[in-house]
Amino acid sequence: MRRLPVFFVLDCSESMAGENLRKMEDGLQAVVRTLRGDPYALETVHVSVIAFAGIARTIVPLVEVVAFYPPRLPFGGGTRLGAALDELMNAIDRSVVRTTPERKGDWRPLVYLFTDGRPTDDPAAAIERWNRDFARRATLIAVGLGRNADFAVLRRLTEHVLLFEDTRPDDFKRFVDWVSASVVAQSKSVGEGLEIQGLPVLDETVMTLVKEPLAVHPDEACVTLVGRCQNTRRPYLIKYDREFKDLATQDFALQVSMYRLAGCYPLDESYFDWSDPNASTELTVNTSALIGSPGCPHCGNATAFAVCRCGKLMCINGPEEAVCPWCDSVISFTPGPSAEEGGFDVGRGKG
Ligand SMILES: [Zn+2]
Ligand SMILES: [Zn+2]
Repeated sequence: MRRLPVFFVLDCSESMAGENLRKMEDGLQAVVRTLRGDPYALETVHVSVIAFAGIARTIVPLVEVVAFYPPRLPFGGGTRLGAALDELMNAIDRSVVRTTPERKGDWRPLVYLFTDGRPTDDPAAAIERWNRDFARRATLIAVGLGRNADFAVLRRLTEHVLLFEDTRPDDFKRFVDWVSASVVAQSKSVGEGLEIQGLPVLDETVMTLVKEPLAVHPDEACVTLVGRCQNTRRPYLIKYDREFKDLATQDFALQVSMYRLAGCYPLDESYFDWSDPNASTELTVNTSALIGSPGCPHCGNATAFAVCRCGKLMCINGPEEAVCPWCDSVISFTPGPSAEEGGFDVGRGKG
């Protein structure tokens, strides 16, 4: 039986925090549910899931759709696209049966790559390897989730680069339906002995084929910060989304980036396993650009935004003495000069 291998390569980095990651889990489940209901797909499609953040790993090895169990997606700091591509290419080499003079191998693999940010590693070598050894053996569909994806990099990998923007309530469902339909269409054509290479018709109400890289705003689309609860010692992630603010005086007009609180999410320790150990914390953001301060999602303390002298974030419940859950030193937080006087800089995640 010739299989149709389908690889989902999913960006699980910080910018996906909150609802986006849940949506991706639900979307994956919905796609597999559709495939199980289709006689051609049921017969031929095998699915694998590769997740990437600060590291990249296969979390579901190639398996037939009836045996597919939807994974809980991990979450980490960094967007190592190069590592993700290498993991993908190794997986194709390892698990896809090649055609030889003696036997027919698997059908040409389909790869769906989803990312919403810019790579934090240098993917050049992996892109070269892809174009040299894999581009003719596999169909890669790269989907930028929102306009902050690095479309210039994705265009170096494939002509099938799509922009998906989730703006209306039904958009995500339509997008998932299109992904399912595109896999079903491929399995139907291989089931009938054809090997089509093209992309099925786009649902242009929710996605666009990207031919030119979009203009990218130099600022990051979001700022994420990691802290620990002083009471439970468990980590959390604070996410701010960019918004623009017009500062105008009678003499000049200026648009500046501000970042508004999007949420504060509990993390578990696996976050650190999935984060890039080499990522520097050099990138800093001035806290005066951050609007809103969350409470602690673990213990309910009033603020999750207290900075220890070790430079890390923790939660506190007001001016008090506390033990830092990162460095164990005792520090007293006094009501003092606040962020209004120019703010202070904190280490800031990227990815
Ligand atoms: Zn806490
Ligand atoms: Zn500390």
